[in-house]
Amino acid sequence: MRYAAFEQGGRARLGAVEGGEIIDLSPLTGAATSVRSIVENADLHSRAVQYARDPAALRLPLTSCRLLSPLPDPGKFICLGLNYADHAKEGGHNVPDYPALFLRATTSLIGPQDPIVAPRCSERLDYEAELVIVIGKRCRHVTEQAALDVVFGYTAFNDGSVRDYQRRTTQWTAGKNFDGTGALGPWIVTADELPPGAAGLNICSRLNGNLMQSSNTDRMIFSVPRTIAILSEIMTLEPGDLVATGTPEGVGHARTPPVWMRPGDEVSVEIEGIGILTNHVVAETGDTTVAAQHI
Ligand code: MG
Repeated sequence: MRYAAFEQGGRARLGAVEGGEIIDLSPLTGAATSVRSIVENADLHSRAVQYARDPAALRLPLTSCRLLSPLPDPGKFICLGLNYADHAKEGGHNVPDYPALFLRATTSLIGPQDPIVAPRCSERLDYEAELVIVIGKRCRHVTEQAALDVVFGYTAFNDGSVRDYQRRTTQWTAGKNFDGTGALGPWIVTADELPPGAAGLNICSRLNGNLMQSSNTDRMIFSVPRTIAILSEIMTLEPGDLVATGTPEGVGHARTPPVWMRPGDEVSVEIEGIGILTNHVVAETGDTTVAAQHI
């Protein structure tokens, strides 16, 4: 299954993507707009699989729908840094024997048809193509051998990074948490549709149509099972938690001269078997003082 959140006719709801169509799942999922509601409910997932086979189910052309973030409300969004050896090297880092870990706030996340926001305080906005694991079961101390049992599915991510803020201190929270810089989607593909551990998938990014990153998930230093074992040694993982698995070489800041994303740019992340996540970049607008009063 390919679960998506979408808006059509002024109403947001969940659906299943099949070819160029979305099967409206709202007769099962009601007003829910996060795939987390399905991830947390195995029975609902089973019924959705059955429902999607019903020829009477409402099918809408994908082009008539606006795709929303498939899971905008993760309990936690954990990110690995430096999980591809060539990317570690291009940034001047040693190949790690333990992954760099950081968290993203949900305010930094956007959907597949939302704009990436270039912050007003920096011009160093970079792209990062990444595979994301969607956790499906509450778990702790999971062995590498059992790790794939807790995976619900996978999606793509652009870990938009503000490099000067990322490097102001030894930890990366600031540079990884600007509003509207982390694009997720276009949908969540259940694990049964991909190779075990999403291994062996081509992953790339394009900026204005130019290929910038091109690698394969086989080149990750910490595989999906290893990552889950490492994380669950630290903390309880819960259904709907997201884990971004790091980006391969070819990012903008490591190029000579550096390449930054600017307003008007189009950036895409493509992962084999999952799909293409394309976002446009806009300049940050609005008066933050006024906005703060309205919140
Ligand atoms: Mg990253």
